Amino acid sequence: MNTDRITEGPGEAKVVARSDVVVVGGGPAGFAAAVAARREGASVTLIERYPYLGGLAAGGMVLVLDDMHNGEEVTTTGLCMEMIERMARVDACVFPPVAERLGTVEMHRKWASWGLFDFRAQSKPQPIVMAAAFDPDGWKRVSNEMIAEAGVDVRLNSWFSRAVMDGNRITGVICETKAGRQAIMGQVVVDATGDLDVAVAAGSPFVHGSYMLTTVFRLGGVDTEAAERFRWEEPERFAVLDKQAKKIIGGSWDRWWLKTPLPGVVWCNCPHMTGLDGISVEDSTRADFEGRKRIYAMVNFIRANMPGFAGCYVIDVAPQLGVRQTRLLVGDYVVTKDDVMNRVHFADTVARGRDYYTPYRSMLPKGLDGMVVAGRHYSATESAQKNSREIPPCMAMGQSAGIAAAIAAHRGIGLRSVPVADICARVRAQGGDPGDVPSANATILETAA
Ligand SMILES: Cc1cc2nc3c(=O)[nH]c(=O)nc-3n(C[C@H](O)[C@H](O)[C@H](O)COP(=O)(O)OP(=O)(O)OC[C@H]3O[C@@H](n4cnc5c(N)ncnc54)[C@H](O)[C@@H]3O)c2cc1C
Repeated sequence: MNTDRITEGPGEAKVVARSDVVVVGGGPAGFAAAVAARREGASVTLIERYPYLGGLAAGGMVLVLDDMHNGEEVTTTGLCMEMIERMARVDACVFPPVAERLGTVEMHRKWASWGLFDFRAQSKPQPIVMAAAFDPDGWKRVSNEMIAEAGVDVRLNSWFSRAVMDGNRITGVICETKAGRQAIMGQVVVDATGDLDVAVAAGSPFVHGSYMLTTVFRLGGVDTEAAERFRWEEPERFAVLDKQAKKIIGGSWDRWWLKTPLPGVVWCNCPHMTGLDGISVEDSTRADFEGRKRIYAMVNFIRANMPGFAGCYVIDVAPQLGVRQTRLLVGDYVVTKDDVMNRVHFADTVARGRDYYTPYRSMLPKGLDGMVVAGRHYSATESAQKNSREIPPCMAMGQSAGIAAAIAAHRGIGLRSVPVADICARVRAQGGDPGDVPSANATILETAA
């Protein structure tokens, strides 16, 4: 007898909503899917486990929107650009004007400490490109406004736990809440949980990927001008101290702090921790404890030694752990690293990131009906996902997924029967670029499998 398992019955759940489209996960992809589907006229319920919208962009305090340009061309428009512009109007977002998107030393010095440079460029200084630095509460505020304006029914504090199935077709989801188990029924379900919770519960094939975890944090009381001056005017002394700080934090990118729209407040995309699984309770607990220990050790060091940081203090460690990759869908098509790096264009492209394209098939779970997937858990190999999972492409995928879901629900057809040309036409009508017209540097695949 297996003594480390028990069986417990699922029991009843109260049906609290019925919608054309049910979106699970209120991160960048789910937010975009919900707004896009609602703007197409579908009734939409958006479910989120946390008490706010935003996912890693807000709760994870990942505060730069990047991977949205192909040279000078801005490739991710639509809801992502709308979010940027609306946050900028309330002083919650900063991005470089077109005239300053250059590869000069002057522009690099002006914008690099915002994180708005081409992080994949080999040339030095890395050119300034279209990217945006934002405030996490600005994201929450604007997404609430956009969701409310669109008329999406939002259910926060609702943790998806089970899929309601009719054969291989999903017909609803069950959520655990403080008020008990609740059912939300829908014609089409969008899985935007980032960890593929819904598709896996419904029986979809997947691979279990992994990537480092990060406890992102913010510092206040930073004299960013003094810190930048020190970097540029005393490069040798800076290099020594910066290296020591990075050794203490034990895992960071080259720039471990970046400016935010709030004066004197920086976000720190570190410490990175490897060998941990983002969906393991034990590993995510370990990451929180270990991350905080390293953060405070580093803060003690920089306060004592680093010009600009003498008066700094920890404002917060992101409430949501920085999980980049866990379960990845095995969909009708699996995007490979070669596809991403060679800018392969597909006949069924419905979304795009930097210079790469997302085929509709990579959003459809193999063998399942009624469900479309959008966001960082889309159907890609582990290495392909690492190169195509930034917030803007996840939002582009979400917008296309929401539109596909709305069309399927409206016409009463399966998701695989929705014409790709119709999805692309509606993305364009909503102000997005579905990537159906390849850029000059794309590799064209003439046919879709
Ligand atoms: C540390 C770190 C740094 C990064 N740096 C950048 C960067 O600089 N720029 C950039 O563009 N991208 C960056 N990324 C990548 C980017 O943040 C993510 O890939 C992106 O946010 C994915 O969006 P998503 O909507 O697919 O998933 P998520 O942002 O993870 O959103 C998923 C949502 O689903 C909810 N959810 C999950 N499970 C359930 C459930 N069972 N029930 C109900 N709700 C659920 C979550 O609470 C969350 O709101 C970074 C990521 C990390 C972790």
